[in-house]
Amino acid sequence: MAIHLANRQLFIDGEWREAVLKKRIPVINPATEEIIGDIPAATAEDVEIAVDAAKKAFSRNKGKDWSSASGAYRAKYLRAIAAKITERKSELGKLEAIDSGKPLDEALWDMDDVAGCFEYYADLAEGLDAKQKAPVSLPMETFKSYVLKEPLGVVALITPWNYPLLLATWKVAPALAAGCTAILKPSELASVTCLELADVCREVGLPPGVLNILTGLGTEAGAPLASHPHVDKVAFTGSNATGSSIMASAAQMVKPVSMELGGKSPIIVFEDVDLDKAAEWTLFGCFWTNGQICSATSRLLVHESIASEFLDRLVKWTKKIKISDPFEEGCRLGPVVSGGQYDKTLKFIATAKSEGATILSGGNRPKHLNKGFFVEPTIITDVTTSMQIWREEVFGPVLCVKTFSNEDEAIELANDTHYGLGAAVISNDPERCDRVAKAFRSGIVWVNCSQPCFCQAPWGGIKRSGFGRDLGEWGLENYLSVKQVTQYI
Ligand code: NAD
Repeated sequence: MAIHLANRQLFIDGEWREAVLKKRIPVINPATEEIIGDIPAATAEDVEIAVDAAKKAFSRNKGKDWSSASGAYRAKYLRAIAAKITERKSELGKLEAIDSGKPLDEALWDMDDVAGCFEYYADLAEGLDAKQKAPVSLPMETFKSYVLKEPLGVVALITPWNYPLLLATWKVAPALAAGCTAILKPSELASVTCLELADVCREVGLPPGVLNILTGLGTEAGAPLASHPHVDKVAFTGSNATGSSIMASAAQMVKPVSMELGGKSPIIVFEDVDLDKAAEWTLFGCFWTNGQICSATSRLLVHESIASEFLDRLVKWTKKIKISDPFEEGCRLGPVVSGGQYDKTLKFIATAKSEGATILSGGNRPKHLNKGFFVEPTIITDVTTSMQIWREEVFGPVLCVKTFSNEDEAIELANDTHYGLGAAVISNDPERCDRVAKAFRSGIVWVNCSQPCFCQAPWGGIKRSGFGRDLGEWGLENYLSVKQVTQYI
C-alpha cells in the first residue's frame, strides 16, 4: 500500500521548525524493511528552544495564559483536537499501521480511543473549575482554609512505540487539561502519528508553545529533556532501564516523575471455565498488538486437570492466526516494530530452548514471509520459574505456560515476578475471582477477560512496573499540585 508521509519538522511554539543540527532519522516499514521517509532528530539545542517556548506559554500573558485560563477554555481545544482526529481517522490509522506494524483494524481502533481520550479529559478540564477552593475543615474557628488545584508547570512526556499516538494522548490530554504546557518526545521507532498530532494542534489553533513535539533519539533528545532544569515533571512510559536512568537524573533536582514501565503479566485459568472463552481471552491477551503490550498476558497458569485439552485448543487456534502485512484483509498479527525487537524476540525463544523449555507452537519467522520483522505467535511449555522466559519481559508474541494444582499455588506463581502491572483470572466461581483479584500483586486486574482498557479507569503498576497512574481522574492528578490557602479571620 502506497502511503504518503508528510515531510514534517519539529513542532515548537506553534510552528514547524527544522532541527538545529538538521539531522533526520529514517522511518522503516517493519512489514517490508523499506525506508519510507524520515523524521527530524532533535538534540539538546532543540530541547532548549522547546522548553523555553513551553515556559513562556505557561505564563505568557498574566491571566490569559494556558495555566491560569479556565478549564472550560482549555476543554474547547481538547474537543477540537478530538474532532480533528476523528475527521482524519482513516489517514492516521494507516500511518500508525505502516509505522508500527500493527494490523490496520487495530490502528483504526486506536484512533477512536485517541479521540475518546481527548474528549474525556475535556470533560475533566471543565470539572476542574468547580473543584477549586474546596474548603478544608479546621479545628479552630479563627482560621479558614481552602485548596487550589494548580498545574505543575512545564512537563516532559516521554513515550514508547507500541501505541504511538494513543500512549502519547494518555499523557498529552490530561497534562493540557490540567493547565500544564508540555514537550512530547515520542519513540524514534514510531513517531509519525505524533507529528500529525502537531499538525492537528496547528489546525485547531492551539496557543503556541502549549504542546511542543520533539522527535529524536532517547539519548540525544529524551535525556536532555528529562534532565532540563525548567522541566517541572517527567511523565514516562517505556522500559525499566530508561525509567531508572530518568529517575536518577530527576533525583538530582528532586523533580517529580511518574513511571509506566514493563510487565510480565499472568493469566490464571481455573478448571471450571468454558475452555473456548478462556482460550479466546488468553490468545487475545497474549497476541494483540503482536504481544507488544506492557500488560500482555505473557505467563499462562492453567489448572493441571485441563492443561492438555486447553493447550491443544490454544495451539490449534494459534495456527489459524493470520500473520501478514498489516494492510491485508483479516490480518491479526503484523511484524514486530523493528529489526532489534525481532532479534531480541528470537533470542528469548532460543534461550528458552537452551534452558530446557519446549516450543509447543511457533518459535520462528513464518515460512510464507521472507521480508519484514515477522515472528510466529509462540507458545512455550516445560518452563521453570528460574528461566529467563518466565522472569523477563519479551515484548513480543510469546506465551510461556505452567500448570498448577490449587488456588494458593496459582497465586504464588502469578506473583512470582518483580513486575506488577496486569493480571487476569478466568473462572466461573465469582467468589474465587474476588479472592484472586485481591491476592494479585498488580495495579490492574482483569476478571474473565484480559486487556480491555478504558480511559476512565486508572492505569499503572506496582513493584518494578512503576508508580503513578495514567488515565481517569488519577491521570489528571499526575499534572496537578495542591496548594492550601489558610486565612486568619
Ligand atoms: P524505551 O525505554 O526504549 O523508550 C521509551 C522512550 O524513552 C522513547 O521515546 C525513547 O526514545 C526514550 N528514551 C530512551 N532512552 C532515554 C533516555 N536515556 N532518557 C530519556 N528518554 C529516553 O522503551 P520502548 O522500547 O519504546 O517501549 C517498550 C517498553 O515500554 C516495554 O518495557 C513496555 O513494557 C513499556 N511500556 C509500558 C507501558 C505501561 O503503561 N506501563 C505501556 C507501553 C509500554
